[in-house]
Amino acid sequence: MSELAYPYEAPASQALFDRAAAVTPGGVNSPVRAFGAVGGTPRFMVSGSGPYLTDADGREYVDLVCSWGPMILGHAHPEVVAAVQEAVARGTSFGTPGEGEVALAEEMVARVAPLERVRLVSSGTEATMSAIRLARGFTRRTKVVKFAGCYHGHVDSLLASAGSGVATFALPDTPGVTGAQAGDTIVLPYNDLDAVRAAFAAHPGEIACVITEASPGNMGVVPPLPGFNQGLKDLCAEHGALYISDEVMTGFRTSRAGWYGVDGVVPDLMTFGKVMGGGFPAAAFGGRADVMAHLAPAGPVYQAGTLSGNPVATAAGLAQLRLLDDAAYEKLDAVSERVRSLVSEALSKEGVAHRVQNASNMFSVFFTDRPVRTYEDARAQESFRFTAFFHAMLANGVYLPPSSFESWFVSTALDERALERIADALPAAARAAAEAMAA
Ligand code: PLP
Repeated sequence: MSELAYPYEAPASQALFDRAAAVTPGGVNSPVRAFGAVGGTPRFMVSGSGPYLTDADGREYVDLVCSWGPMILGHAHPEVVAAVQEAVARGTSFGTPGEGEVALAEEMVARVAPLERVRLVSSGTEATMSAIRLARGFTRRTKVVKFAGCYHGHVDSLLASAGSGVATFALPDTPGVTGAQAGDTIVLPYNDLDAVRAAFAAHPGEIACVITEASPGNMGVVPPLPGFNQGLKDLCAEHGALYISDEVMTGFRTSRAGWYGVDGVVPDLMTFGKVMGGGFPAAAFGGRADVMAHLAPAGPVYQAGTLSGNPVATAAGLAQLRLLDDAAYEKLDAVSERVRSLVSEALSKEGVAHRVQNASNMFSVFFTDRPVRTYEDARAQESFRFTAFFHAMLANGVYLPPSSFESWFVSTALDERALERIADALPAAARAAAEAMAA
């Protein structure tokens, strides 16, 4: 690790982390927040405004995490805040149907053609869990195919070889997931259609669905090779299985219609979260009307939620989606490209082997000179260089995802001042990456 690893103290964050650790396992409510992969004190944030976050020590950062994707317009966008305030004043939860959830579902269906029907839930995990249950109920089959390095939330049966925090903490398997729960999951290498063909041949009539991240961002950004998603769709159709495209991360981020808007492959079911909630817990799954008709109360597959379609969350999500017009996506693409080239220039100048991979405006930096097409490729990178790079950026006021297995996220709020800050922080960070030594 470079001597720049922890270049300054964060006493107020440290005090909060100590308090948190006394009442919460590991001091955090979601593992990757703990800085486990990079070390040091996680920053406790107290406010966000536009492209900036401010921590408990009063330091301001340019935010390239955006709450892991949702804050695509930046923090405290005035129109989203106004919609939330208006909704809160009318009451925060009714446990009845309401117009807000109808309006949000209509907006989603209007943007994403394969989404004929949609059911709202509260987290991406709930969305994928429910989609899998529905696929099994619809096909009356048990097995699920997933890909190594794809993360679909902490659904028991989907934690095998997952990316994101599971990759960060190098957990081979999660205690608490039983053999029975994991036994019906077939994990295959990403971007390998032959492996999928072989799985269908080995398990005739048993595979309920293939679930894949529409374009993976949880092993770093590893886009599908041309024809991969269409190949999955075709194999599923041929073998009577459902193709589930997990758009929790890419949905309404990589285009108006998410990754579907980029590759046009029509899934049977899709899952959403993050951007559609406008920073609140709202997520969804949906797709073919005939499949969704199997869901309770229309059909026999049970699924429910006390806070599903919550009026405050749906108001925030709707306000955010309505602001995401073509100009917003052009801006996201432009700022993403700018940050990518700034990072690449700085690393090249210091002779650091790296690859910047992107899927529309989502991107990540791999410390390797080889293309990254699979989870195995992603794990072969020199992550110790990322640790040094991360801490140098943090010291200079740029907040990156604290792991080399995560996508970076931009917002429309990134302005010239914020981009300059990133540019100013990069030379020292690139030097730190160049000088970093494997532990
Ligand atoms: N699916 C994907 C592709 C994700 O990236 C995530 C979260 O990062 C999830 C599902 C789970 O979503 P949540 O964290 O809202 O449960």
